[in-house]
Amino acid sequence: MRLINFAGRLALLTTDGVVDVQNASGGLFTADPQAVYDRWDEFLAWAATVPTTDTVPLDAQLLGPPVPRPGQLFAIGLNYREHAAEAGLELPETPMVFTKFPSSITGPVDTIALPSAAVDFEAEVVAVIGRRAYRVEETDGWSYVAGLTAGQDLSDREVQLKPPAPAQFNLGKSFPGFAPIGPVLITPDEFADPDDLELACTVSGEEMQKARTRDLIFSVPRIVAYLSSILPLSPGDVIFTGTPSGIGWTREPRRLLSPDDELITRIEGIGEMRHTFTNHSTPQ
Ligand code: ZN
Repeated sequence: MRLINFAGRLALLTTDGVVDVQNASGGLFTADPQAVYDRWDEFLAWAATVPTTDTVPLDAQLLGPPVPRPGQLFAIGLNYREHAAEAGLELPETPMVFTKFPSSITGPVDTIALPSAAVDFEAEVVAVIGRRAYRVEETDGWSYVAGLTAGQDLSDREVQLKPPAPAQFNLGKSFPGFAPIGPVLITPDEFADPDDLELACTVSGEEMQKARTRDLIFSVPRIVAYLSSILPLSPGDVIFTGTPSGIGWTREPRRLLSPDDELITRIEGIGEMRHTFTNHSTPQ
C-alpha cells in the first residue's frame, strides 16, 4: 500500500490515481494523515478493500509529509561504516541515537530556509511505527513498522558540533524544515526486500551519496528492538535510520547547501523528494 499526504489530506496512491481516504471511507477514517497510525491494523484491513474508481490525478506539488506530527522523532548516527570513517569516528557497538524535534518536519517538495552557510545534507531511509512497540524482539521488528519513506536529516554542522563537549546533535538538526520526509509511505510488504534499498542524493545535479540499506550497521528491526528496549514506541513515531558516506561537511572542498541549490533525494521503490533553499539570517 502507498500512502500519501495530498494537500494536507490522507490519501492512497493507486495505479488509477489518488483516493481520498475520508471520502472513500464515508468518514470512517479522518483526513488527518497523522491520525491513521493510531488505527493502523483497522486501516490496513479497510485499505485492502477500497474501490479505486473515485480518483484524482497525482500532483506532486501538493504532497505533504506522510507523518506530519510524530510524537517522537528519532535518528541514528554512524549507521554506515564508510560514513563513520569519513566522520573520523569509531563504529558504535549499540545504535548511536539522537532526536530531531517534530517541528522540523516538512514535506517532500518545499523551499527550506538555511539558517547559516553550514547546512549539510543526509539522505536516509525513514521508518514509521504502526503498532506500539515495547521490549520487542529484533526478529519481530518489521511487524511494528507501518512503512518506509525517504528523509533528509538536514544538519547545521556548526550548531551540531559546537561546544560544550560532549556535544548534543539535536538542535543543529531541528531547525524548521530540517526533517523533510516523503513523497510516499510504502508498507514493507511492497518491497522485494525491505532491508536492501538503494538510497541516493544529488545537489544541483551532482551525485553526493549512493548506497544500499543492506550496508546498515543496525537494520530497521534491530533499531526498533533497541529503542523499544528502553522506551515504548508509539504509532506514528518516526525513525531516521542513518546516512551513508558522501556528506558535504567532510568533502574537500566542503560542499554545503546554498540558496542556489536543488537537493534531490531518491530511494528505490519509494520515489524522490525535491528541495530548494532560501537564506534567512535572522530567526523568524
Ligand atoms: Zn542522519
